[in-house]
Amino acid sequence: MEYEAVIGLEIHAELNTKTKMFCGSLNDPDERHPNMNICPVCMGYPGTLPVANRAAVEKVIMVGLALDGTIPAYAQFDRKNYFYPDLPKGYQISQYEHPFVLGGFVELSARRIRITRVHLEEDTGRLVHDQKTGATLVDFNRAGVPLMELVTEADFRTGEEVREFGERLQQLVRYIDASDANMEKGQMRVEVNISLRPVGTEKFGTKVEVKNINSFKFAADAVAFETKRQTALLAAGERVVQETRGWNEHKGESFSQRIKEDAHDYRYFPEPDLPPMRISRELVADLEARLPELPHAKESRFVREYDLEPYAVEILARDKKFAAYFEQVASEILRHDRDTPERSRHALYRTASAMMIGDLARLLKETGAEADEISMTPENFAELVVLASEEKITGAAAKEVLAEMFRSAGDPSDIIEARGLWQISGADALEDMARRAIKENPAAVADYRKGKEASLQFIVGQIMRSSRGTANPQIAREAAKKLLDADN
Ligand code: ADP
Ligand code: MG
Repeated sequence: MEYEAVIGLEIHAELNTKTKMFCGSLNDPDERHPNMNICPVCMGYPGTLPVANRAAVEKVIMVGLALDGTIPAYAQFDRKNYFYPDLPKGYQISQYEHPFVLGGFVELSARRIRITRVHLEEDTGRLVHDQKTGATLVDFNRAGVPLMELVTEADFRTGEEVREFGERLQQLVRYIDASDANMEKGQMRVEVNISLRPVGTEKFGTKVEVKNINSFKFAADAVAFETKRQTALLAAGERVVQETRGWNEHKGESFSQRIKEDAHDYRYFPEPDLPPMRISRELVADLEARLPELPHAKESRFVREYDLEPYAVEILARDKKFAAYFEQVASEILRHDRDTPERSRHALYRTASAMMIGDLARLLKETGAEADEISMTPENFAELVVLASEEKITGAAAKEVLAEMFRSAGDPSDIIEARGLWQISGADALEDMARRAIKENPAAVADYRKGKEASLQFIVGQIMRSSRGTANPQIAREAAKKLLDADN
C-alpha cells in the first residue's frame, strides 16, 4: 500500500512590541541578565490586573489581513490552565473560541495552504538547567511577551512545502514588522503535526506532533523522518500512537515525549480580568491601509518594472531592506541612463540584480550586516554596474571593487584607478602577455599541439592571473590562440 503524508503546522512568533502583552515590562529579546524585565503583573502576583497591549493586537490583526484572513468583530481572551514552573500565574492568557483572525491562506509554488486561525497569547518564562549545580533556574524575562500562534489546515503533503511556508511566513511577519522571527533566538517556533493515509483516500490517520524544531530545514527533515517511521509501522500492521514527539537535530530523529493531553484538560474559560473586545471596522480599515507592499506584490512588480527573472526577484525580495536597496540602485540607473533605450537599461537592472544576489549578499552574510547598514551609496553601486556592463572592468575586477566599496564606501572609479584595475583590451598589450604566458608554460603548449584544447584555456588562465583579472578574457584568448596556431 502506498501512503501520503498529511501535515498541519502550529507556528508561534514573538511579537516585537516595546513592552509585554499585559504589563509595561520591557519586551527585550536581547536582555541577557535574568529576571530584569519583570513586574508584579507578569510575575502573577495576587491582586494585579492585566491590561492588553494595543500594539500587539494591531500587529496580529495586520498579520491576519496580510494573510487574507477575516477579522471577527468580537474577540476575547481566555485562560488556559496548567501548571509549569515557568508559568508564574498557573495559567496562560490565550484565546480559544474568539481569536483575532479566522481563515486566510498562503500561496505556495505548488499549492495554497489555508490558515485555520491566528490568535494572541503570552509567552512563558525560560527554564535554565545549570550544569554546575544540577539545579534548574527560572528566567522570567520572557514571561508575558506577546506571542502570536498561527494554526494551519492539514493542507501540506511534503516537507519541502512546510519549509517554503515557514520561510514565507517569516518573510511576511518581517515585512509587516510584527516579529523579528529569528528561529535561533526562539522568536519563531514551529510544531509539525503529521499523519499518513493511503493514497486516494480522504480520511485522516492518527497524527503525531513533533515539537522543539528550530529551523525550517529541520521541519522538512522531521516530516521525512516521520513519514518513514509511520510507513514502517503501518506496513507492519501496527498502529501509530497519537503522541507528542521531540526532534533530535543531531541524530535527525524524532523521539517520544508524552501522550498528548486533550484540549479540555486545560479548562479554558473567558479571562475575567480582561474585557472582551469589539474590533471596529474603522480600526481594521486603518490597519489595512498601513500594510506595506507585501512580498508577492513586490515580486510581480519587480518582474514587470525591471524585467528580472522570477528566481532573482524572489531572492531580492526575501528581505524588504535588501529589495529597497535594489530599488535605490535602479532609480540611479534610470537617472543616469534616461536616454539609453529601455532594452539596455533592463540589461543594467539585470547586472545590478546579479551583483546584489551574488557578491553583495555574500558580503552581507560574511559581515553579519543588515541591508540598511550598507554604507556604499546606491549611486556608486550604480556606477560600478555601468562600468562592468560597458566592460571597462572585467567581472573579476568588479568583484574586487565591490568588496572594497562595501568596506570603505569609496568611489568605484577611484578604486579602479588606485588598484590599476581598468580592463586591458588593447590587442598589442594582450599579445605581449600571451607571448609571455606561452614562453613560461612549455608543457601546456606541447599539450595543445598534441591536440589538447583545454590547454588553451590554461594559457588564458595564466594571462588572467598575471594581469590580476584585468585582461579582457575574449581578446586574451584570441591572442593566445593566434600565437599558438601560428607557431605550429
Ligand atoms: P490538537 O487538538 O491535537 O491540537 P488540532 O485539531 O488543534 O489538534 O490541530 C492541530 C494541527 O494539527 C493543525 O495544524 C491541524 O491542521 C493539524 N491536524 C489535525 N489533524 C491532523 C491529522 N490527522 N494529520 C495531520 N495533521 C492534523
Ligand atoms: Mg491545538
